[in-house]
Amino acid sequence: MEKKDFNDYGTLFVVSTPIGNLEDITLRALRVLKEVDLIACEDTRRTHLLLKHYNIKNSLTSYHDYNKERKAPELVRFLKSKKSLALVSDAGTPGIADPAYFLVKKAIFEKIEVVSVPGVSAFLSALVVSGLPTDRFCFENFLPSKRTKRGKRLEELEDEKRTLIFYESSHRFIQTLDDIQKILGERDIVVARELTKKFEEIKRGKVSEVKEYFQKKKIKGEFVILMRGKG
Ligand code: SAM
Repeated sequence: MEKKDFNDYGTLFVVSTPIGNLEDITLRALRVLKEVDLIACEDTRRTHLLLKHYNIKNSLTSYHDYNKERKAPELVRFLKSKKSLALVSDAGTPGIADPAYFLVKKAIFEKIEVVSVPGVSAFLSALVVSGLPTDRFCFENFLPSKRTKRGKRLEELEDEKRTLIFYESSHRFIQTLDDIQKILGERDIVVARELTKKFEEIKRGKVSEVKEYFQKKKIKGEFVILMRGKG
């Protein structure tokens, strides 16, 4: 898209940051984080650590799920005053399981230019090492936290032929594997835990095997669960 399609406002840069290993950031992302007028981030302490690691000094403002409705119009006004803004999340690509979509949608509506500064995302990083088909896949984000809703969502996915990908937190992890086993059955599953971090682990097997393996361990860290689609 050419610049003339947009108003003469500042630019919103959607910048990917690492999911663990701080080296997983592009040179362009570092330059943009240095050059913009302001960085909007989920947790200022966390983003501050990243900036400190790269010796970048810039102003931060918080933009997260709990303040997005109040904060987005403020950030849009900032962009309309010809200032540039970088939007980052706590980890990975903004817009994937975080509130970035809300601001991006508002900015587009206001004819503000939105530029992607791509990088890491946990689900893609997990998919490419899973050994499951990568040609067609279906990213399902977090399953609903309420068990009945979660069951319903899984039932909707029963006949899905594409590789299924879910995000999960440590405290619901075993329960989710349980529900997956009951509803989707005994298929190949892959769990990618703590990708790019010190205790990175990829466990492959049938659902019951992978569940048994993790039941014997302390459940810690961040997880991506991938499952073979219906064969
Ligand atoms: N925006 C991020 C992305 O692009 O992947 C996702 C943010 S979402 C709030 C956090 C979830 O992503 C975690 O609960 C976990 O499921 C997954 N995740 C993030 N980092 C991960 C890592 N290093 N290893 C495995 N899963 C990770």
